[in-house]
Amino acid sequence: MLLRRLIPALLLLALAGPGRAAARCDLAIAHVNVVPMSRETVLPDRTVQVQGGRIVAIVKAGASPLACRVTVEGHGRYLLPGLNDLHVHLDTAGFAQAFGIRGAPPVDFPAGFALYLANGVTGVRVMSGGPDILAFRDSQKGLRSAFPRLVTASPMLSGAPPVIPEPITRVVTTPDAGRAAVDEYATAGYDFIKVRDNLRPEVFRAILAQAKVRGLYVDGHISQGQGLSVADVLAAGQHAVAHLDNFALAMKRDSDAQTYVQELLACGCFVSSTLQVETNALRQIADYEGMISRPSVKYVPPLAVKAFWSKPNNGYADGKADPAFFRELYRQDGVLLRAFVAAGVPVVAGTDALNPMITPGESLHEELEAMVESGVTPYQALRTATAVPARVVPGFADLGELAPGKTANAVLVEGNPLKDLTALRAPMGVMINGHWLSRADLARGLDRAAASYAR
Ligand SMILES: [Zn+2]
Repeated sequence: MLLRRLIPALLLLALAGPGRAAARCDLAIAHVNVVPMSRETVLPDRTVQVQGGRIVAIVKAGASPLACRVTVEGHGRYLLPGLNDLHVHLDTAGFAQAFGIRGAPPVDFPAGFALYLANGVTGVRVMSGGPDILAFRDSQKGLRSAFPRLVTASPMLSGAPPVIPEPITRVVTTPDAGRAAVDEYATAGYDFIKVRDNLRPEVFRAILAQAKVRGLYVDGHISQGQGLSVADVLAAGQHAVAHLDNFALAMKRDSDAQTYVQELLACGCFVSSTLQVETNALRQIADYEGMISRPSVKYVPPLAVKAFWSKPNNGYADGKADPAFFRELYRQDGVLLRAFVAAGVPVVAGTDALNPMITPGESLHEELEAMVESGVTPYQALRTATAVPARVVPGFADLGELAPGKTANAVLVEGNPLKDLTALRAPMGVMINGHWLSRADLARGLDRAAASYAR
């Protein structure tokens, strides 16, 4: 009996022997405390082995003879899954067009990702797509890309008038136009359909129905301005909501949060957090000059700064925005966040980066810290940027946890992020699709971006 059990064990040992390991490991990160994010735990003193862009093993230090081509010494630091921002906007040629900026150079996508990588963000979901974003995404397919995972929405479908001008938005005012737009975006290869405001109910329903036919999910606002309620929008089949504040704007009393919980659980829908919209509105109402002179602004695409952040084009900096409005919205976001997380409604971290003063990458740390300020634990907050999107957002299933078989995206930080999320703010290194980027590599990426943007 004992012998029978021993034979397979011996066989496994033979397969895992040193000769075999030599052929099967590109990179090891040794002597790290692994924060796997599949559960709330820290695995002390592990070595993470990577081959072909995937994690192949996580072993106790010294438990296995390591013969990896490259070993990075972790010095007892913490290794966690790469972070994902599930609601961003990227610089795109459409911005220049939409805001009438002439002579803009083509978008420098690698430069745009420097701030994300330097902040440990290895996956993004773009909430307003465009042809150049799609082309960059496709240019990375089949490569072991050194850039974050890029999943992109279609251009935003909106009724009239649009909040953001075309071509970032497309105005659709008839069911036929809505269906035609969905067909066009499905054929072009966008990952999902984004809806915004002022959609007439019959146009909204035509978009939802056609997206279902084409196998795409729909994410976006609770379309304002045409009398569609939260219940209408979710019952029609919208699969995700782009902001917690879309619920806050609809809610009459705090107890409405429980109604939304039931509706969201019933449809299996998920919600992006974007607390940043409120916290950054408040910060720039209080101190616009301080916000625009932050050191990180030189790494932000200048076109976006010109189009959105500069004083004449920024809706928060004109002295008319009411801080009390944003404070109440932020409080309500907190009520919703706590209720959703407690009930198991999937909330995914989203920052709305590139909106005024919402700095790519850096803002994800602010988002997670705002979640903790709003009353969830660091582990619950960190899950929204790792394990939750892996479970609910198409295109992220292979990310978000450290385990054999997962894509090798990870962040190395000094302290335990489950105790204090500020440990995430200065990564010592980032692994992206199995490529190791040291702190010096990350800094060089930022320098290159600043040089590109200064031209
Ligand atoms: Zn957005």
